[in-house]
Amino acid sequence: MKSSVSATIRKSAWFARSGSLADKTGLITLKDLTREYTSGQRTVHALDGVSLEIARNEFVAISGPSGCGKSTLIHLLAGLDRPTSGEIFVDGIALHSADDAALTQFRRRGVGLVFQFFNLLPTMNVRENVSLPLLLQGVPPAQCEKRAQEVIDLVGLRDRAEHFVHQLSGGEQQRTAIARALVHQPSLLIADEPTGNLDSQSASSVMQLLEKIGREAMRTLIVVTHSDEVARAASRRVEMRDGKIVGDSPT
Ligand code: ADP
Repeated sequence: MKSSVSATIRKSAWFARSGSLADKTGLITLKDLTREYTSGQRTVHALDGVSLEIARNEFVAISGPSGCGKSTLIHLLAGLDRPTSGEIFVDGIALHSADDAALTQFRRRGVGLVFQFFNLLPTMNVRENVSLPLLLQGVPPAQCEKRAQEVIDLVGLRDRAEHFVHQLSGGEQQRTAIARALVHQPSLLIADEPTGNLDSQSASSVMQLLEKIGREAMRTLIVVTHSDEVARAASRRVEMRDGKIVGDSPT
């Protein structure tokens, strides 16, 4: 598993164009970001004045106890929610002030999401699941097919491309989800507990893949994780508590 993932990644020239090091151009800037939830008399400060810069092609792990604001932060970064106050820029787009159409466009093109429970469509095979984001963007089928094959090769699933979800191991399902999240070449890949639902061997294959994506600086990669092992694979670790950043250091 280990060598097949690495070998297929090595073979992929498609990502090579992205360069090999995190460059210092900021991809993400958060300025005094807050997100409050109010129910009745009570206000929860889910994010409480978060400021952060993330460089293009950096690999950042975000950790912290349950309820500290990690999901709230990644929902904002993915353009799924808006802050109560503060500023959030991703790839030059001011998400805090973007209108609905611009946010929809950003979600479709600018970001790829990977979830703990894969969220693959069971009635589709690997190739179809991976192609779907491009088909929804109206990319011609031949081009979808070509790009899908490139990312399927990248994640080491060439011999599983025609398999349906129930025929895949957990690790293969998550690698399919990573391929789907990358197929439209987003500038930002966000993974929320990507190994949280996997046995240790599958987790290790997914981690190696994420590490490789990070090391070869293919994309800016943000991984929310409770796992020290996954966090160590990142180049930087951000720690959150009570809606604030309390630690930010290279790993
Ligand atoms: P984490 O992902 O670190 O577990 P969350 O971002 O989910 O933390 O939650 C941060 C805080 O915001 C928690 O206190 C949580 O209960 C609260 N919260 C999150 N979403 C909502 C919501 N939709 N309505 C009310 N409170 C919420």
